[in-house]
Amino acid sequence: MQLSFDPEVESFRDEFSAFLDANLPTEAETLERPRSVSHMPDWARRWQRLLFDNGWLLPAQPPEFGGRNASILQQFVHLEELCNRRIYHSFNPQGVNIIAASLISFGSDEQKHRWAVPVLKGEKTASLGMSEPSAGSDLASLRTRAVRDGDYFVVNGQKVWTSGAHDADFLLTFVRTDPDAPKHKGISVLIIPTDLPGVVCRPFASICGVEDKDFNEVFFTDVRVPAENLVGPLNGGWGVANGSLGHERTMMWLGFADRIANMIGDFEPHTPLEKDQYAAMIMDYQALRLMGSSGLAKAARGESDVASVSVVKLFGSEAELRASEYALTAAGSDGLVHPSSTGPYAHMNLDHYFASWFERHARSFSGTIAGGTSEIQRNIIAQQVLGLPRAK
Ligand SMILES: Cc1cc2nc3c(=O)[nH]c(=O)nc-3n(C[C@H](O)[C@H](O)[C@H](O)COP(=O)(O)OP(=O)(O)OC[C@H]3O[C@@H](n4cnc5c(N)ncnc54)[C@H](O)[C@@H]3O)c2cc1C
Repeated sequence: MQLSFDPEVESFRDEFSAFLDANLPTEAETLERPRSVSHMPDWARRWQRLLFDNGWLLPAQPPEFGGRNASILQQFVHLEELCNRRIYHSFNPQGVNIIAASLISFGSDEQKHRWAVPVLKGEKTASLGMSEPSAGSDLASLRTRAVRDGDYFVVNGQKVWTSGAHDADFLLTFVRTDPDAPKHKGISVLIIPTDLPGVVCRPFASICGVEDKDFNEVFFTDVRVPAENLVGPLNGGWGVANGSLGHERTMMWLGFADRIANMIGDFEPHTPLEKDQYAAMIMDYQALRLMGSSGLAKAARGESDVASVSVVKLFGSEAELRASEYALTAAGSDGLVHPSSTGPYAHMNLDHYFASWFERHARSFSGTIAGGTSEIQRNIIAQQVLGLPRAK
C-alpha cells in the first residue's frame, strides 16, 4: 500500500502553493463579500481570471479552458491545497464546476466560447436550473415546458432552489421538450439568459436568516430562447444531467472532510462527553479520508465505482452534520448568537464557514440534500452495493 504521492504530484502541489503565496489577494482587497453563489465582487472576478490565465482554475482542462491537463491525483492535491488554506475554490462554484464543465463536455464549439469561457474567466456567472417544486430527487418528472417555434423555444414553467439565480447572467435549464416520450427521454437543456423577457427570479431566505438570500424561485412565462441555445441533442438532457451531476460528485468528499477538519480546529471540548464527541469527529474525519483516498486511487487507475461515491457522500455529509451538532450543543445558548465567529477569519473563504455554530449546523444539512439526498444514496447503496431488491 502506498500512502504518499509520487514526486511529480508533490512538485505539482509545490508549484501551485508557490503561485498562491505570490498571487493571493490581500485581506484589504476582499472587503466586499459575495452575497450569493453567483455574485462575484470585482476582486473575486480578477482572482478567478488570474487562476484561469495560469491554468490553475480547472486543472484537468486544457489551457484554453483554464487548466493544464492535470491527472486525477494532481487535481486532488490542487483541491487539497485550497482546502488547507481555507480558500473557496470559485465564488461562482456551480458556474465553474458544473455549468462550464458541462458546456465543455456537451456544448458546441460556439457555446463553449460564448458561454463557458466567460464563466471561467469570471466575466459572466451562471446558475443551475434543475429542481422544480415536484421534481427534486425525481428530476425526471420535471414539467417546465419548451415548445419549438421557428428559431426559438418558448419556455413556460417554474424552478426552485436555484442557488444564486438573481445574480446570474444565465441559467443552465432543464426543460421538457417531448411530453409524450418516457419521462427520462423527453428532457432537453437550454442556456437561458436571465435578462430575457418573461424570466423572473425571486430570491427567498434560508433557515440561516432573513438576510441569507441565495435560493430562488425562477418563473418562465413565454420566454423566447434562441434555438441555438440548446445544449447537446434535443431530448438528450438526461445524459447531460448525469454528466452535470458527475462533475459535481467528483471528489465531493474532500469538501466534507475539509469542513470537518475546520470544525475539529475550531471546536474546543471541555466536558468528558464533549471530549468523547471530539474524538468521534476525528475518527469520522480519518475514516472519510481513508474511504475517499481509496476511491481516488481507484479513479486514478481508471476504475469507475459509482456505488462507493454514494457511500462516501452519505458518510461525509452525515459526519459533517453530526460534528456541527456536537459543537452547537457544546456551545449552548452562545451557539445561537448571530452573527458571531467560531473560527479564524479567512478572507478567501465564505464567511459562513466560520459563522455562529447555529449557522454552521444549519448549513451542514445542505450536504445531505444537494447532489442527491441521504435517502437516495441509501437506495443506491442498498441496490448496487448490498444487492437488495428494489421496493415495489
Ligand atoms: C444548499 C442547496 C442548494 C441547492 N442548489 C440547487 C441549484 O442551484 N439548482 C437546483 O436545481 N437545485 C438545487 N438544490 C435542490 C436540490 O437538488 C434538491 O433539494 C434535491 O434534489 C432534493 O429534492 P427536493 O428538495 O425536491 O426533495 P424531495 O425529492 O421532494 O425529497 C423530500 C424527502 O423525500 C425523500 N425521498 C425522495 N425520494 C425518495 C425515494 N425514492 N426513496 C426514499 N426517500 C425519498 C428525500 O430523501 C427527502 O428526505 C439545492 C439544494 C440545497 C439544499
